[in-house]
Amino acid sequence: MANTAEAPTLALPVDDQVLVRLHALACFDCGTTVGPLVAAGHVYTGDGDGARYGWPVVACPRHVADQPPRADRP
Ligand SMILES: [Zn+2]
Repeated sequence: MANTAEAPTLALPVDDQVLVRLHALACFDCGTTVGPLVAAGHVYTGDGDGARYGWPVVACPRHVADQPPRADRP
């Protein structure tokens, strides 16, 4: 389930597969690139300086439908 609201902050460095998902090129939950991929909130990594960096991620129709409503979605 692509419930990014409860996703933990990811530790850096991330591997290439995770990086593709952070760049919103694949469903953050399952990694598919078959669309339509739609906005699914944000996932956070450390920024290397003690703060968090937010990445707008996407989810495939199968996983975005499982998400509860969240404040950062229109
Ligand atoms: Zn998916």
